[in-house]
Amino acid sequence: MTALTDVLPREAVLEPQGRFLADLMGRGVQGHADAVVLPSTVEEVAAVLRWCYENDVPLTARGGGTGLAGGAIPVEGGVVIGFERLNKIRQFDPLLWRMHVDAGVTTADVQRLARENGLRFPPDPGAGEISQIGGNIACNAGGPHAFKYGVTGHWVTGIEAVVPPGDVVSVGGSIRKDVAGYDLRSLLVGSEGTLGLVTAAWLRLVPAPELELPVIGFYRDADSGVGAIETVLASGVVPAAVEYLDGVTLSFSGAAYPFGVPADARFMVITEADGSASEARRTADELREALADNAVAVHAPESAGEVAELWRWRGGAAFAILAQRGGAYSEDIAVPLDRLRDVARETLEIGERHGVVALSFGHAGDGNIHSTFLFSPEDADEERRADAACHDLFDLAIGLGGTISGEHGVGWLKRGQLERQWGPDAYRLHTAIKQAFDPKGLLNPGKKT
Ligand SMILES: Cc1cc2nc3c(=O)[nH]c(=O)nc-3n(C[C@H](O)[C@H](O)[C@H](O)COP(=O)(O)OP(=O)(O)OC[C@H]3O[C@@H](n4cnc5c(N)ncnc54)[C@H](O)[C@@H]3O)c2cc1C
Repeated sequence: MTALTDVLPREAVLEPQGRFLADLMGRGVQGHADAVVLPSTVEEVAAVLRWCYENDVPLTARGGGTGLAGGAIPVEGGVVIGFERLNKIRQFDPLLWRMHVDAGVTTADVQRLARENGLRFPPDPGAGEISQIGGNIACNAGGPHAFKYGVTGHWVTGIEAVVPPGDVVSVGGSIRKDVAGYDLRSLLVGSEGTLGLVTAAWLRLVPAPELELPVIGFYRDADSGVGAIETVLASGVVPAAVEYLDGVTLSFSGAAYPFGVPADARFMVITEADGSASEARRTADELREALADNAVAVHAPESAGEVAELWRWRGGAAFAILAQRGGAYSEDIAVPLDRLRDVARETLEIGERHGVVALSFGHAGDGNIHSTFLFSPEDADEERRADAACHDLFDLAIGLGGTISGEHGVGWLKRGQLERQWGPDAYRLHTAIKQAFDPKGLLNPGKKT
């Protein structure tokens, strides 16, 4: 058997170390591996996959490790392949609104380069300084502004990937439309490292909005808050984002809210208007009107500094929640918009049933809610109950005609749930696609099942 160091430069092969064996926030799941490789070229990526295929060794792709479904954790050993050295901007054409990047470029670097040139890469998953474009594509990541702009896949026109047994393929490119073949690009998007290794992508950009104006409503309860969201949607305005935070979430994160949470507020709705200055102002006025029904208060920060502060605070809510008991299972179900009320109410009921603190917040406009159950890592029984609550939550999502995952993917933590959601016939097609790409089942085994 040839050694990995025979097909890769010696400095590209590392002993397995802690940070490559677990997710940053990964529920304590610890993987194991025989080697970690950090290739610097696409040819090296191909050499690794070829070597794994020749020697029947599992291979787990790792981006920034910010995934929330345990997808990058090597649960069956073998090799972990990291993309941090594949980090070049291959081409940037600001006048044509497009960028060609290696998979290991961080989300924030893409956003920054776009912004500095008057453009925007709209996907905004919350850990952008660490997450990588390859990881965003592999998870089809979203974020608050996916409501207006769509998730990562919407902004990817081409993918270069290494697929078994070690071939470099390109689907799409710098073109904006392509219906020639089966949509392999879309299959790779969201495939969580189970079909191929993304090495580069062509990204589509848009001119940055001239002005962004959040409009925030506070309500006495979830019922009136969700009612306000329904009024916003029915009014015909198109906000860039529609988020909610329930009363429990506010009780944990509200103290740090930069503009003060009204004393009797138990539910918060964040919307945002954007576009040209006049368009954003007009939309903000309409949002203010739509949010006013039954509101305790409506508030609209205006300066760029305040707007940044608001979103920084919103991004930190997950950490304020985590800090409460040291552990939090935060899921990402998505449901039809007319079932938002059920999610807000039943999340609390599920928590009560299992004796754990429960809350919900998230991308309400997309029906994509982070129902969350807290536990102390020192209390095994509480952790087991929080886990059981997640299973009830998946039942709830499926029962409401929704999905077990609107954002984070199935990964390792939601294994076994997909067939329940889809039924055996659709699941059989899913398995056949995996078989077509990866007949030996060596790419990220145990995931997305
Ligand atoms: C604080 C916080 C906030 C977050 N907010 C959001 C949010 O708003 N929206 C959202 O969608 N997500 C969110 N996430 C989840 C996470 O940031 C995203 O899923 C992100 O896309 C993961 O990217 P990554 O590079 O860290 O991937 P990793 O965690 O390293 O990997 C995730 C999956 O992608 C695969 N993978 C990674 N790189 C490649 C590659 N090059 N080729 C093939 N497969 C690959 C891995 O095998 C794994 O299955 C959040 C996470 C945190 C910690």
